[in-house]
Amino acid sequence: MNLEKLTCHEIHNLLKSKEITSLEVTSAVISRIEAKEPDVHAYITTTFDEALEQARIADKEISRGKELSPLTGIPIAIKDNMCTKGIKTTCGSKMLHNFIPPYDAFVIQRLKEAGAIIIGKTNMDEFAMGSSTENSYFGPTRNPWNLNTVPGGSSGGSAAAVAANEAILALGSDTGGSIRQPAALCGVVGFKPTYGRVSRFGLIAFASSLDQIGPITKDVTDCALLLNVICGYDPHDSTSVNRPIPDFTKSLINDISGIKIGIPDEYFIEGVDPEIRHSVEKTISAMEDLGAIRVRVSLPHTEYSVPTYYLIAPAEASSNLARYDGVQYGLRIQKEGLVDMYSHTRTQGFGNEVKRRIMIGTYALSAGYYDAYYLKALKVRTLIKQDFDEAFKKCDVLITPTSPTPAFKIGSKVSDPLSMYLSDIFTISGNLAGIPGVSIPCGQTQDGLPIGLQILAPLFGEERLLQTAYTIEQNINC
Ligand code: GLN
Repeated sequence: MNLEKLTCHEIHNLLKSKEITSLEVTSAVISRIEAKEPDVHAYITTTFDEALEQARIADKEISRGKELSPLTGIPIAIKDNMCTKGIKTTCGSKMLHNFIPPYDAFVIQRLKEAGAIIIGKTNMDEFAMGSSTENSYFGPTRNPWNLNTVPGGSSGGSAAAVAANEAILALGSDTGGSIRQPAALCGVVGFKPTYGRVSRFGLIAFASSLDQIGPITKDVTDCALLLNVICGYDPHDSTSVNRPIPDFTKSLINDISGIKIGIPDEYFIEGVDPEIRHSVEKTISAMEDLGAIRVRVSLPHTEYSVPTYYLIAPAEASSNLARYDGVQYGLRIQKEGLVDMYSHTRTQGFGNEVKRRIMIGTYALSAGYYDAYYLKALKVRTLIKQDFDEAFKKCDVLITPTSPTPAFKIGSKVSDPLSMYLSDIFTISGNLAGIPGVSIPCGQTQDGLPIGLQILAPLFGEERLLQTAYTIEQNINC
């Protein structure tokens, strides 16, 4: 049996019936990582020794008859922007290339309590800025489906690790699409929860009003299991929402009859790859066959989502990244004067895309331009949110493509930031509105590259998303 190919829930059952051990699963994943990493490069850091030790502990507990949590003994990969105590956390940047956090992020604490095994830290675009994982200081990750193409980004390492069976589960973060878009390009499930559902404590900040952590998994069931562990109130994050968390596995219901699916006009436009359009439309028809009701809706401010995001996200980033001054932690380039030390540290520590964002953000926030750019973007953000409020009066969920294109060639967009920014045209609005979204696999192109379908729901509509995603997964052979 190739244990690394199984899902978390399959492994859980085999652990419970004592047919396999966590040590066997962990060893299988490690061998797979060793075999695939020269090609894929999904990881920045691996933690094999600690993982094997944890696996032995899990096995001892299992043999003593301790009640197993669904994640006990399961290897998980963590995007390298979540703080792991004692384990390097680089954020894909030279600035933090040797940063070892003294504490665990909230989600890491939760995973440890659940008995999950951290197998390594995954590659990402520097400070989560990008859509291809090419902006990593540590070099690009390659898409396991075709090594000449990108895995998407910025959580490209996590998505590639799951797709290549180099991890059973993974965590990513999504500020403008960074969980959903790489999940789509790698043919796996990627879920961005409602803003505030998952604590951002210990997540290295990019754009704090948009950032959200979520699962990247092989199927929808695993996604629900991981959500059960990471969601919940945390007083250490002032934007964490204090609201009861349902058991998400209860939403794995194979039924979408009567559910109203909204199809936004603005998401099925010229420029969307025809094969993607075809696959998504085919799936929508199949959903109708299962009893879903198709409703046409409009999100009229969609065309402003990319420019709005590219003012708000850089503005927040310019403020968040001010802390990397060579004094408190991370890289320091020693120089005579303080100002020289600051400027050399930041010049050498940040890559081009990060510098570009800091400059855009600082400009948009500066006196004289604040009202014209930043404040205006905030107003448009409200209009975008209102579009969703109106649409959700007519439907329960929205169905769209996740990404306008399948995985593109490595190097093909790096020198054209605008075309890279357009990769997130269908995912960014969800972050601006704070609503949850999931990308699930929806067929392949003729070249054999995965296609992703996005489902969006109103705030705190995770259960609806899971039910819809699960029903599609169980019934529709896209
Ligand atoms: N690709 C988008 C960006 O570059 C989104 C990134 C993200 O969600 N972290 O900002």
